[in-house]
Amino acid sequence: MSSELPVTDRTKLRRKPQRGSHDRAAVDAILDEALICHVGFVTERGPFVIPTMHARIGDQLYLHGAVGNHMLRALAGGIEVSVAVTLLDALVLARTAFHHSMNYRSVVMFGRATEVTEPETKLAALDALVERVGAGRSRACRPPNAKELHATSVLALPIVEASAKVRSGPPLADEGEDAQLPYWAGVIPLVTTRGAPVNAPDCLVDGRHMFDRAQ
Ligand SMILES: Cc1cc2nc3c(=O)[nH]c(=O)nc-3n(C[C@H](O)[C@H](O)[C@H](O)COP(=O)(O)OP(=O)(O)OC[C@H]3O[C@@H](n4cnc5c(N)ncnc54)[C@H](O)[C@@H]3O)c2cc1C
Repeated sequence: MSSELPVTDRTKLRRKPQRGSHDRAAVDAILDEALICHVGFVTERGPFVIPTMHARIGDQLYLHGAVGNHMLRALAGGIEVSVAVTLLDALVLARTAFHHSMNYRSVVMFGRATEVTEPETKLAALDALVERVGAGRSRACRPPNAKELHATSVLALPIVEASAKVRSGPPLADEGEDAQLPYWAGVIPLVTTRGAPVNAPDCLVDGRHMFDRAQ
């Protein structure tokens, strides 16, 4: 069942609010399809925006990395963080420069992350992160051992303050004389697909058949 996230001063959509929503199902769908996010935070060294992978389980967005990771250590200290997630769907070309745009589905989140120390939750989050790379993959590789778990930090960011925004369709209609201009107008779809698997040079099994392109 879908629910609405509360609109805060930070998540109030200002420009083109009709393209936005605070619907949890819309937010979740974008988080679950996107393979990377960008994490914004400020430390005494200034502002940072760091790209990284993420995984969602229920109401939590999980990030992970080496225990020495600057971003994770800063976030674990309880500072405010903003996460942006973008799926790019198309380039939008209009007759006028002004109406050029992009079709996208995006999420902006705010909050404070906490370090996951409970072993079961940490393992579940790490499994979910591996599943992003390939469905079923967490059961088709050796799970992390104690040393690897010790060397890995996992953070959970609750999905409580977030918005989604979507642009789709053709360019905004050029009007008047502009509509008569002899320039092409339309949409060029962009698609990210999984290509054919390539065995690692030292791979002992040919498992290429195990991967279908639909993953
Ligand atoms: C691929 C891509 C390209 C874009 N290119 C441009 C561009 O060239 N110029 C431009 O002005 N805008 C662009 N946008 C839209 C941009 O992300 C903002 O939505 C826009 O700048 C509105 O800013 P604002 O001042 O109204 O809102 P802000 O005050 O910046 O935002 C208010 C709140 O609205 C929500 N919000 C704003 N934008 C988004 C979003 N994209 N997704 C989810 N929630 C959002 C957030 O909660 C945010 O805190 C692009 C978006 C994407 C995904």
